[in-house]
Amino acid sequence: MITFTDVTKTYPDGTTALKNIDLEVQKGELLTLIGPSGCGKTTMMKMVNRLIHPSAGTITIHNKDIREYNIHELRWNIGYVLQEIALFPHMTIEENISIVPEMKKWKKKDLTKRIGELMEMVGLEPEKHRKRMPSELSGGQQQRVGVIRALAADPDIILMDEPFSALDPISREQLQKDIRQLQQEIQKTIVFVTHDMDEAMALGDRVCLMKEGEVIQLDTPQNLILKP
Ligand code: ADP
Ligand code: ADP
Repeated sequence: MITFTDVTKTYPDGTTALKNIDLEVQKGELLTLIGPSGCGKTTMMKMVNRLIHPSAGTITIHNKDIREYNIHELRWNIGYVLQEIALFPHMTIEENISIVPEMKKWKKKDLTKRIGELMEMVGLEPEKHRKRMPSELSGGQQQRVGVIRALAADPDIILMDEPFSALDPISREQLQKDIRQLQQEIQKTIVFVTHDMDEAMALGDRVCLMKEGEVIQLDTPQNLILKP
């Protein structure tokens, strides 16, 4: 689904963030990307979305070089959930979730139904929360809106960059369960970045361990425990 072939990234200031990364994310899997701060996780995610370009190497999606996609086509097909809660403060929850589907010219009726279903899926009450402003929701609820906003337009790929880092442990645990369930229900390809080993092991079909810009291990959680 997503492949990195010999991808290297050196930033203009000379920092080498990634070294010869080879990685294949399979269709329908939840891959967790784990490693200490600065090991290159965010750089990898931003590259998939073409926010940052590799210095060398190739990235493909559906066997096609990402450079060959129209940028909108590429980004609409990727849901991106950021670490910081990034809802537009002057827009209601419903308006926030509707941005990409509206650009894709979804019918109003289909969109309203879809938003209701998504909100229920993550434990928000459509009737109660739809018209609220982000500031009227708790941090955990806002983070859930961030997650379903990424899902709204039905992308094939979802990238999540430490989406729960700002949350308290209880909300965090609940959201982990939600993500796991979501992924089983909708069978999306998800790359989930974290620096929390427990979270990586609990969530991932496979766990990709990174260190200083390199992939040092890539395996199922079971095998990672067996082969420390
Ligand atoms: P992680 O997400 O694992 O914390 P990043 O991908 O953010 O890691 O960063 C990888 C490395 O690249 C770090 O050493 C970081 O300081 C560096 N880096 C990230 N963005 C830039 C940039 N725009 N310019 C220079 N160096 C950067
Ligand atoms: P922008 O969002 O700035 O329009 P583009 O995706 O059009 O960015 O690419 C800007 C430049 O980066 C182009 O010269 C393009 O060839 C190069 N580039 C884009 N994607 C990649 C990639 N995956 N690997 C190497 N270079 C790339």
